[in-house]
Amino acid sequence: MARMSKENVARFFALLAAERPDPTTELDYINPYTLLVAVVLSAQATDVGVNKATEPLFRVADTPAKMVALGEARLRDTIKTIGLYRTKAANVIRLSEMLIEKHDGEVPANREALEELPGVGRKTANVVLNVAFGQPTIAVDTHIFRLANRTGLAPGKDPRAVEEALLAVVPERYLRHAHHWLILHGRYVCTARNPKCPSCVVSHLCLYAAKTTVDDPARPAKAAKAVTPSPARRSSRRGRVSSRQANGRRAPRRARRPGAR
Ligand code: SF4
Repeated sequence: MARMSKENVARFFALLAAERPDPTTELDYINPYTLLVAVVLSAQATDVGVNKATEPLFRVADTPAKMVALGEARLRDTIKTIGLYRTKAANVIRLSEMLIEKHDGEVPANREALEELPGVGRKTANVVLNVAFGQPTIAVDTHIFRLANRTGLAPGKDPRAVEEALLAVVPERYLRHAHHWLILHGRYVCTARNPKCPSCVVSHLCLYAAKTTVDDPARPAKAAKAVTPSPARRSSRRGRVSSRQANGRRAPRRARRPGAR
């Protein structure tokens, strides 16, 4: 598979950075704990769907102690619009108990401790480390996996291989926000079925062999599917977006920590 040169990788990120100077997560959260819960709930669900459920949830339970006090049955009822809500509710209660027992109710800022928590895998840990603690991690979701392979940026057969390839080629100055630049570009421009190549700022650097020639939402997905590996990941939101979404900025519903995902 074609691989982008190091010089062009740097140019690629410079252009994404210029397009979205302050990329951020689209999950709503209040503190590291609510971020962790939101990310756990977001597995195989959309950020919009998670935000709808967490808005009332975080009003009553924004700490591990409050979540445990809320109880699994009421938590389940609050998040029942989210896929796999039963398992997720059990995980959130158990991880909240573990945070109280082992970490004084705080979210630990290291991978090993995070990955010990129920429902927390490498991707979730990477998101929390990046967004809550400003670490230069890259959580490879379906959008990043597709984009890295399609463009030749960091080809890899699975998310872990792509993560390692990205960490090896992304210039240090872009590592902190690389995760969000790629997710937002994949979500709104380099979409799975109909990538918007004519309006893509990195089109001249991208090595995708089946670039679209018009931003036509009705274009058949045949070519895009043929060369784009697709791991089983959470569903993506496709279609038209507002200019605010396209810029990767949303009005937060509540306070965020600085340095958002
Ligand atoms: S040119 Fe097309 S395939 Fe390449 S990154 Fe842009 S939208 Fe994606």
